[in-house]
Amino acid sequence: MASIPEILDSMDYGPAPEDASFAYEWLKAHDKGFGHFIGGTFTKAGKALFPTKNPATGKTLAKLTQATKADVNKAVKAASEAFGPWSKLSGHERARHLYALARIVQKECRFLAVLDTLDNGKPIRETRDIDIPLVARHFYHHAGWAQILESTLPGAQPHGVCGQIIPWNFPLLMLAWKVAPALAAGNTVVLKPAEYTSLSALYFAELAKEVGLPDGVLNIVTGDGAVGEMIVGHKDIQKIAFTGSTSVGKAIAAETAGTGKALTLELGGKSPYIVFDDADLDSAVEGLVDAIFFNQGEVCCAGSRLLVQESVEEALVAKLKARLSTFRIGDPLDKAIDMGALADPVQVSHVEQHMTDAVHEGATLWQPAIDCPKGGCFIKPSLLLDVEQANVAVREEIFGPVLTVQSFRTLPEAAALANNTRYGLAASIWSENIGRAMDMAGRVEAGVVWINTANQFDAAVGFGGMKESGYGREGGLEGLRAYVKQDWPWTEEMPLVHPLPKTLDKPYHDKTTKNYIGGKQVRNDNGRTKRILSRAHWSNGTPLDRVGIGNRKDIRNAVEAAVKAKNTWAAMTGHQRAQILYFLAENYEKRQHQIGVTLSEFVGTRKADLEEARDLKTANTESRACVERLFSAAAWADKFDGAVHSPPKSNITLAQHEPQGVVGIVCPNEAPLLNFVTMVAFAIAAGNTVVAIPSFDYPIAATELIHILEASDSPPGVINIVTGESAEMTKTLAEHDGVDGLWVHADAKTCKMAEIAGAQNMKRMWCSHGQALDWTHPIFDGDALLRLGSEVKNIWLPYGE
Ligand code: NAP
Ligand code: MG
Repeated sequence: MASIPEILDSMDYGPAPEDASFAYEWLKAHDKGFGHFIGGTFTKAGKALFPTKNPATGKTLAKLTQATKADVNKAVKAASEAFGPWSKLSGHERARHLYALARIVQKECRFLAVLDTLDNGKPIRETRDIDIPLVARHFYHHAGWAQILESTLPGAQPHGVCGQIIPWNFPLLMLAWKVAPALAAGNTVVLKPAEYTSLSALYFAELAKEVGLPDGVLNIVTGDGAVGEMIVGHKDIQKIAFTGSTSVGKAIAAETAGTGKALTLELGGKSPYIVFDDADLDSAVEGLVDAIFFNQGEVCCAGSRLLVQESVEEALVAKLKARLSTFRIGDPLDKAIDMGALADPVQVSHVEQHMTDAVHEGATLWQPAIDCPKGGCFIKPSLLLDVEQANVAVREEIFGPVLTVQSFRTLPEAAALANNTRYGLAASIWSENIGRAMDMAGRVEAGVVWINTANQFDAAVGFGGMKESGYGREGGLEGLRAYVKQDWPWTEEMPLVHPLPKTLDKPYHDKTTKNYIGGKQVRNDNGRTKRILSRAHWSNGTPLDRVGIGNRKDIRNAVEAAVKAKNTWAAMTGHQRAQILYFLAENYEKRQHQIGVTLSEFVGTRKADLEEARDLKTANTESRACVERLFSAAAWADKFDGAVHSPPKSNITLAQHEPQGVVGIVCPNEAPLLNFVTMVAFAIAAGNTVVAIPSFDYPIAATELIHILEASDSPPGVINIVTGESAEMTKTLAEHDGVDGLWVHADAKTCKMAEIAGAQNMKRMWCSHGQALDWTHPIFDGDALLRLGSEVKNIWLPYGE
């Protein structure tokens, strides 16, 4: 043992281990293996058992049951049966249950912290001070939402049974993020924890039972990815919530395509940590240590790419190296260590392989000369210097304690580097100049932005990504919305489609309508057109109108124009967008009657359409409704406000709405003019640019608008219109990486195809699956489509000295 003078000299800490004996006792009581938690009881351990290990020692902690199809079916059945009674409880009654869960988590906080530390390898300091307090906070916060759900979102309906699949990096916290909002909104749950870290979920199930959560409301099945797949594919599950890797997220999005299941995905990240020359460098170093070495870097929103302004790069890196040279890696149960063990040997080799590859591609690896325990899953904090943008370590998520270092000169360059990734989860910005920091916060494509701080989380604040980091938010009102159904006015009757009147109207003059791309009328690529029949044609053979049959190239040109216009349009103020929409509405109104006449004249592409043609009165009603819709969209353009969340501690969080970028719109036949005007107007009101394919059978209704667009002052490329066969063009839109959101109102087959293709770059999808909507419904004058076409960006602003 070191003498006191030696200790005073070295200033070394001795070990300060947390007591884990009570957790081991619990494990011992289950030494035959754990079963699942289904319908309020624990099943016996199954035949196929797998070990869960302590990654710090490699020792097996317990054996868990690999769920079979029958287990999953049983769990879903229990959740389905529990759904009716649970969803019918009053908000207050559900609130009491969530409140009881919060209370029991607090009472058992040390046990839960120790268990997660044993199972995952993360430091007790973190599970004790961050994970478990946040778990309790989530249940408290959502007890509150259960209480006031009806008054906050009147008439909100839960989805039903939610299948929830979580990763191993924050075992119980991820459970809380998923279970608390689901139960608050009246859903029931089948949850699968990660195979490396299922123990705290099972202990939580015991606690839920103890505090009287009704049987079947929460079910937990253990096992590997195959169990996750069974949950995703289960027909009696109405919503899937997944946190994990982007590759599995994409597979789930493709798997659920066409099923109508609601889906939220929290996926990977490659988040930038941006330090300007006017930052407080000492704070920035502390923040950086937290951003990338918290939880051994196994954090989806880890600040894994340091972007530092050139003039302070040397100073910052020197400070960082000095700080890391005092780092302590070791027993996760030791209260005085900085970093524990990674979750599994597989993860260790994954991280090491990335470092080797990065060095092979020219990076310089730097690690501090500190002790690192042998035998467990330990890796030293690592810097990759001299990296190019193309380096694998800059592009790929490593999910370990590895930071790449790049520099920049100007703010626009920093923004370009920050956004040069397929991910968009988080960003951390360091500057003492609030104007500069907020400017950067606006430019960075990320769902969460931390200014002069990092890795802040709270139940009141939405968390989730943009781009390929997934969609949906967890936390806050924005997160709660993901657990209630969006009640669209689907209808069996097709409003605004009326039988042909007895007397035919006079013939219409002949013309061919072109596409509208980048503010210009252009002929379609292949020169082919299709006939649009007029009523007069069927009575006296008057000339037909024709529209172009667009193809892949036309769509690509249109997307290119929309991409080009997107930043300018998104940067406009809501007021400017409102002015443009009002002007459109005004110009439309001048031609409203004429458009009504056209709408009643041109009936479609097939003789059978005559049966469904509009009489003039109905057509005029539809045309008039468009004026009002345009006014609604204009009205909203400067009113779609976000929120200011109030997380605990000295923080305010600005939840801002941002456009998605380019939205593709595929219009249905019902109310062909009104649906087109509604979707396009609201998509652009939210700040998106659009590529719209008008109704296949009634395209003229929409192409009439081209003349109005030409006369209005909407910038070129904001609205692009391509007519033609929608299934083929929908495919091109769905496959196009330049398209961020896609609204497809078409038959079920086309919608499914679009959802599968759209999963490849995580497009935000809205599909009708062959159902028709009542486009006259007042929901379309509200903010529903704005929500659909936007993202929530949460900007954290700490305050105080
Ligand atoms: P993963 O392989 O995607 O696993 C996540 C969960 O999905 C686990 O429960 C896993 O089961 C299960 N799973 C695996 N294959 C599946 C399939 N085909 N269908 C359904 N479920 C399946 O990710 P991981 O390696 O555990 O976690 C690391 C990744 O998660 C990182 O990429 C990280 O960025 C991401 N992550 C994101 C967030 C976020 O909020 N955005 C949070 C944490 C982690 P098994 O564990 O049993 O294999
Ligand atoms: Mg484990």
